[in-house]
Amino acid sequence: MMMRSIDEFVSHRALGIDASGIRKVFDLAAKMPDPINLSIGLPDFDVPEAGKTAAIQAIESGQNRYTQTQGIAPLRQALRQRLSAEMGRDLGDVLITSGVSGALLLVIMAVCDPGDEVIVLDPFFVMYKHLLTMAGAKAVLVDTYPDFGFPAEKVAAAITPRTKMLMLNSPCNPTGMVMSQQQVDDAVRIARQHGLLILSDEIYEPFLYDQRQANPGTPLPSPARDYDRTILLRGFSKSHAMTGWRLGYAAGPAQIIAQMTKLQQYTFVCAPSPLQYAALAVVDSPMEQARSAYQRKRDIAYDLLSKRFQVNRPDGAFYIFPKAPDGITASDFCTKAIANNVLIIPGNVFSTRDTHFRISYATTDERLAEGCRILCSLAG
Ligand code: PMP
Repeated sequence: MMMRSIDEFVSHRALGIDASGIRKVFDLAAKMPDPINLSIGLPDFDVPEAGKTAAIQAIESGQNRYTQTQGIAPLRQALRQRLSAEMGRDLGDVLITSGVSGALLLVIMAVCDPGDEVIVLDPFFVMYKHLLTMAGAKAVLVDTYPDFGFPAEKVAAAITPRTKMLMLNSPCNPTGMVMSQQQVDDAVRIARQHGLLILSDEIYEPFLYDQRQANPGTPLPSPARDYDRTILLRGFSKSHAMTGWRLGYAAGPAQIIAQMTKLQQYTFVCAPSPLQYAALAVVDSPMEQARSAYQRKRDIAYDLLSKRFQVNRPDGAFYIFPKAPDGITASDFCTKAIANNVLIIPGNVFSTRDTHFRISYATTDERLAEGCRILCSLAG
C-alpha cells in the first residue's frame, strides 16, 4: 500500500491560500530587536477601564458558560437599538460573532456556493480573498487605483450571472479611504439593479476624521441605511481596543442572519461569554478621545509622507497607503525600510499590484514621526 507523505494530507483548500507575503514581514519582525513597527492594525490604547472591570466581574460571577449561539440578549438589543437610531430603520436581528473575522467567515459560508462570484474592490482587506477561496467562491477584483474611490462603471461591468455579493469596506483597510454618500448611493444603485447582496464591513466606523471633527454626530455613509439587502458588520476590536477579545456583530436580512447563526452553532458555538457582558458595559462609552488622537496621528503621517510620496489623504481607520518611489517595487521598498528598522507591509499583500505600501499609524506620535522620516529619507 502506498503511504501518503505528511504533505499529501494537506487539502487543496489549504494549499489554495498563500499567506507568504505577510508572513515574511512578521518573520523579519521577530528577528528585529526594536523595530519601528508600522505594520499592524492594533489600536495603541487599551480596553476602557469599565470594560476590564465588567469582564472581571462577569468571570467572577460565573458568566463562564456558553451563551445562546446568537449572543446575550441585552447586548444584541443594545446594538440593535443603536443601529436603528443611526440608520433610521430597524436592520433586523443582530448576531454576536467571534470578531468581525468570524462574521466574515459565516456570511461567506452562508451565502456563497462554489463558483459564485463576489465583487471585491482592490486593494482589499487581506482576509476577504482567502475566505472566498476557502468557500470555493471567486473574488472578482475591481481595481480602484489611483484614488481608491468607488469605480461604479468598472463595478457594473464586472457583474455576471454568477455575481451574488458586493463587498465594501469603508473606512478601508489598507487605504484609509471613506466612501462618500454619493459613492455609497452608486453602490446601492448597482446592487439594487442586479439584485445583489452588499456586505458592508464597517469595523473602523468610529474612526472618521475631518467629517466628524467638524460635526461630532456625523454618521458614516452606509448602504445599510437605504438598502435592506445589506449585511452590516461592525465590531469591538478596533473601537474598544479589544482585538484579543474576539467580539464582532452582524445585522441584516433575517434569513441570512438565521443561516449564519446555524453555522455559528456548529463552528464557533458562541462569542466569548464574559466578554459579551464586558462589551455591554462599554457599548455606549464615548470614543472621541481615541478618534481625535488617531486624527492627530493621521495628520503627522500625511504631513510628513506627502512631502516625498504620492499619497491620498485618508479620512478614516488608521492606515495610509503611499505609492513606492518610481523605479522600485513596493516589496523591494519594504525590504529597504525593514533594513532601516521600519516595518511596513507591501501593497501586494492587499492587491494584485505591488506599487504601494501600507502604514498603520496606530503607534506613539514619536515613533510614527521617526518612522515616517526614515521612509522619506529612503525615497531618494
Ligand atoms: N475587517 C477589517 C477591514 C479589518 O481590518 C479587520 C482586522 N484587521 C477585521 C475585519 C477583523 O477584525 P476582528 O476579527 O478583530 O474583529
